[in-house]
Amino acid sequence: MIRTRFAPVPSGVFTINDLHNALFSYLIAKHEKGEFLLRIEDINQEKYSMKAEQNIYNILKLFGLQYDNKPVIQSERLNIYKQYIKFLIENDYAYYCFCDEKQLAKERLEATSKNETYMYDGRCRNLTKEEVNNKISNGDKYSIRQKVSKEGTTSFHDEVYGDITFENKYLEDQILLKSDETPTYNLSNVVDDGLMNITHVTRSNEYLSSTPKYVQLYDNFNFDTPKIIHFPMIVDANKKINNDSIISLLNQGYLPEALLNYIALLGWSPKSNKEIFSLEELVEEFDYKHITKDSCYFDIEKLNWYNKYYLKRMVDEEYLKYIIPFIIRNCNMEGKDRDYVNKIALLYKEHIKNAMELVELIKIFFDNDIVYHDECRKYLKNSEQVKKIVLTFKNEIIKINDWNVTSITQCLNNVSEICNTPTKDIYMPIRISITGITQGPDIIETINLIGKEKILNRLG
Ligand code: GLU
Repeated sequence: MIRTRFAPVPSGVFTINDLHNALFSYLIAKHEKGEFLLRIEDINQEKYSMKAEQNIYNILKLFGLQYDNKPVIQSERLNIYKQYIKFLIENDYAYYCFCDEKQLAKERLEATSKNETYMYDGRCRNLTKEEVNNKISNGDKYSIRQKVSKEGTTSFHDEVYGDITFENKYLEDQILLKSDETPTYNLSNVVDDGLMNITHVTRSNEYLSSTPKYVQLYDNFNFDTPKIIHFPMIVDANKKINNDSIISLLNQGYLPEALLNYIALLGWSPKSNKEIFSLEELVEEFDYKHITKDSCYFDIEKLNWYNKYYLKRMVDEEYLKYIIPFIIRNCNMEGKDRDYVNKIALLYKEHIKNAMELVELIKIFFDNDIVYHDECRKYLKNSEQVKKIVLTFKNEIIKINDWNVTSITQCLNNVSEICNTPTKDIYMPIRISITGITQGPDIIETINLIGKEKILNRLG
């Protein structure tokens, strides 16, 4: 049975790329009715954040990426890693390194300033057992490094990037256990993937160049090398890795379904041109043979398109349940009844790209003062005809006693007649004069919901 895992570090924010990794790993497993596991890579306690760990669980749940079994928590497995380190030392696959960290950092800096790639030169590789023991009993600090095989080449097959061969002389003796006795990712990922019986190692392509070292470790430990699947990364317009936070996007009012659907298509292409996928449909269709190699540009416009689609598709009740909390959190609700707020929210259902855009747009109903954009201010002043329409509108509004859609429609007809201007041409001056902006939903409903008092205030 196929088994994949998602292995996030609980520090900082949960990003678009994290979600991408989780989703692809989940889909690869579930497409073949396999297991999807979660491993919390929390060995580095300095970086650890409880909130970040909680976010991982919450986000996976929210997006429906249900993992099998209990999560594997690396900080609970330190003794296991130590045993594996011991095994490597005993079998000459790893060695004690007593080099001074500051000295190595200096050498690294020198190399980079000369534009050279730094690689540890292995000067502690050949210390004798006696030298090592003396230094240890002396209390000298040490780390433990992988003794990579420096001869020949290491090859592996990546399911996305194909057959890959590295020359071993370019592989660095990477640190497996730090001087503070904590294992590094380089060790723990291999040990855990082996012990968790991971059949397909799924991760972003930033790990491609480290993979030959991991392949050597699988061999050293006598683990079967799993299938290896690297994903392309999601980048910004300037080709930098995109670190947008999923929580921020959710807070911005992007729906999980929309995010999931969009992200699934970054780096994977379905057989057909279909663009709309539920999670179940993705499970059905996702085939890792169709993962693409190149980095994918995170296009917010495309995400907006998806979000708009999913918002429109919601039934009204569901939409209100989702959107009203955003309004309550961000608008002054004093004196507003629920029915009124629901009407406003529904007025925009077909128009908005996310919930926070709605919050911005509906300020015209909530705030007493509105901000007129410069061009709108000019528009209202620059033509006699516009001035006349606005003034007539004010005079007609004053006369309305029974405030409703019918009386407002009648009022607009009157304005059109008095100003001798077709109704469609009076909408823009009126919209601008009472909202300060050029676009919006149905004008009659807008007038109705802003209310007579606010409108008269705005018309001065
Ligand atoms: N903790 C690593 C990361 O978040 C895991 C990479 C992997 O899947 O092995 O990038």
